[in-house]
Amino acid sequence: MDTFLTLNNLQLLFKQHRIQPKKTLGQNFLIDRNIRNKILSFIEITTDDIIIEIGAGTGALTGLLSEKAALVYAFEKDEKLVEILQEQTSGLSTINIIKGDFLEIDEGFFRTIGKKIKIIGNLPYYVASPILFKLLDMRYYWNTALVMIPEDVALKIVAKTGDKNFGFMGFVFSLLTQSTICYKIKGSAFYPEPEITSVLMKISIPDKPLMEIKNQQLFWSIAPKLFVQRRKTILNVMKNSFHINRETAIEILQKAGIQPQLRSHQIEIPYLIELIKQISKQI
Ligand code: SAM
Repeated sequence: MDTFLTLNNLQLLFKQHRIQPKKTLGQNFLIDRNIRNKILSFIEITTDDIIIEIGAGTGALTGLLSEKAALVYAFEKDEKLVEILQEQTSGLSTINIIKGDFLEIDEGFFRTIGKKIKIIGNLPYYVASPILFKLLDMRYYWNTALVMIPEDVALKIVAKTGDKNFGFMGFVFSLLTQSTICYKIKGSAFYPEPEITSVLMKISIPDKPLMEIKNQQLFWSIAPKLFVQRRKTILNVMKNSFHINRETAIEILQKAGIQPQLRSHQIEIPYLIELIKQISKQI
């Protein structure tokens, strides 16, 4: 059963429940059915699929997803919207609504599902980046994500060495995912219209990533520090981030084949991978 609501129906429902869209929860509801259909055309869903929907709202995507998939776990933080969603989807056995903050879901939840999940969501923009990093952390449990996110976040994800947007996000998503921007979604597709431009992004987890991260803790304690202080040379970044002297920093950079005067956003990914390996051996 399609639980999509037109703008009129959505406003009527909000009036009946005496609620308003909450900016603090990033509530921008999808109100253009054609665009909703176009969004879902970017992902194949079969009756075997288990889906996690992040920020289900009033169900613009949820009902249709549940028609196609084996089961949809619909996460929603707003208690009022959970009530509405429950009403909207009552009688649908392929939806499991979970009231709560997706960022607080622990790994055990993903583990119990027992098969690779598909992730879908019109993400609340204020927490789009933390949600994406959480998904990255949980990457062993899913294979495809289709998400609506702010364009500036998407541009950071797809940025390559030399781009002005290339930083830690571009590096780590290049290492672990294949990510593409599907298309820009016009603001009038949402109610209320968001102040930012949003895009649809598809993220896949390849069987073999560019770099196997064996020691997660070590990786996360090194890699982000290489991208702080964008304007500084990698030599100075190394000295400051790892509290090492100039000679040691130069020696590590030489072993990784990196010119000390480069900025981190100018360094090609294979060299950054080597640099992380060298740093983890020496500090
Ligand atoms: N999926 C609906 C749609 O497309 O119309 C709503 C999308 S709206 C951009 C984001 C939704 O995420 C809102 O319903 C909001 O209440 C919910 N939300 C905000 N923060 C959340 C969080 N941390 N965990 C789960 N849901 C959250």
